[in-house]
Amino acid sequence: MKFGGTSVEDAGAFERVIALVRAERDARPVVVVSAMSKFTDALLSAFERAAGGAGAGALGHLEEHFARHTAALRTLLADGPQRQEADATLSELESVLSNAREEIGRAFAEAAAGSRPLPLLQDLVVSFGEQLSSWVLARALDARGLKARQADSRRCVITDDEHGCATPLKEETDRHTREQLMPLIEEGVVPVLGGFIASSAASGETTTLGRGGSDYTAGLVGAALRSREIQIWTDVSGVLTADPRVVKEARTIPRLSYAEAAELAYFGAKVLHPKTILPAVVRNVPVRICNSRAPRSPDTVVYFDAEMTPRTVKAIAHKTGVLIVHVTSARMLGAYGFLRAIFEVFERHRTAVDIVTTSEVSVSLSLEDPARLDAIIEDLKHIAAVHVEPERAIVCIVGEGLRSTPGIAGRVFSTIKDINVLLISQGASSINLTFVVEEQHVAETVRRLHEAFFECATAELVAELGGH
Ligand code: ASP
Ligand code: MG
Repeated sequence: MKFGGTSVEDAGAFERVIALVRAERDARPVVVVSAMSKFTDALLSAFERAAGGAGAGALGHLEEHFARHTAALRTLLADGPQRQEADATLSELESVLSNAREEIGRAFAEAAAGSRPLPLLQDLVVSFGEQLSSWVLARALDARGLKARQADSRRCVITDDEHGCATPLKEETDRHTREQLMPLIEEGVVPVLGGFIASSAASGETTTLGRGGSDYTAGLVGAALRSREIQIWTDVSGVLTADPRVVKEARTIPRLSYAEAAELAYFGAKVLHPKTILPAVVRNVPVRICNSRAPRSPDTVVYFDAEMTPRTVKAIAHKTGVLIVHVTSARMLGAYGFLRAIFEVFERHRTAVDIVTTSEVSVSLSLEDPARLDAIIEDLKHIAAVHVEPERAIVCIVGEGLRSTPGIAGRVFSTIKDINVLLISQGASSINLTFVVEEQHVAETVRRLHEAFFECATAELVAELGGH
């Protein structure tokens, strides 16, 4: 059971987590938790100030966040065990917090002095987000009669030493996770781990798995333990058929295949990053995405075997703020090495390209982050003529159904026949159909497609047939 930062943002949120863990108690859960919301950001910006020479002032900015831990735990213990025990736990928390202040302060000083590498010190500092949230959650569970213990995820998840975005080492992580957690589970204790934090196999130093990395921890731990399932608790009801801000009829997709989830990941932060569930994929551990604010609302389960999911269109995703770059040159005709020359430019400027389509003499690409746009265009102009179209939006129809159902493209484009489609791509993965429209038309496009595929009677029928 993985709980994100908003699921532990205050005492009320912790309270919901405790109830959810209690409900699963017989299934012998393992809990992975993120830092309390906003704390990771605060730690990172304090670290930046400290590295820039702000010294003790930087630590001061963290006090309000330390205090949130105390306030949450105090509230949680108020109607728990005996008064004395509560006081003892709270004073223990005070010493955990002063130890944190001390270690963070030392890292800040080292960062300012430049005595140790900054990425290493930053990981050390930022790890206190998860170290503290897991400590508080373990104590709160325990006080509520659920035997729980904090387990140090740095002894479970073992990585290379790429600080800030470390890659887990599969075998070591599997072995250490089992060694650390199995005895607790067998004793009937719920292990509570901080997500996101890990340690380097080579140096033993604290590493982190990249922003949002707690999902990744959950995937690794669930895979190592061969869990029955991994539950990712967030504040949305699973994965929706469309962005609910655009389509108010959007609804939860009950079952997704891994490939569909991977396609959708690009379109919304609410969907898991595909790499985070990859470790579970190979072990066939399903991932359930649930809403901690509305536990009984529908949720989405990601299965690794596409056969477990109905073959229909599952979602109409979209993304605005996209621009298209057209690169045209007559020299391209019958030539080779052209694409490489173009992509080298994007690589040099570390810019990700999303959609690519080609004709004999031109290549069109879509980009999301135009930070280096001017430099990119400058370089591309050495190769060919360049034309940029800003304010575009990508629309993507995703579903295993595209593989096997004829007529979907026809239906898509006839539904929006009065809207100008600027670029189309299908085939790279046989489960998506992607195209680009002007940003001003995207909401209308998505609404109409949603209606056509999900809201009318024939859509239901098609879904039904595809599902059986
Ligand atoms: N606390 C980390 C972050 O904010 C990891 C996570 O929340 O998953 O990125
Ligand atoms: Mg998070």
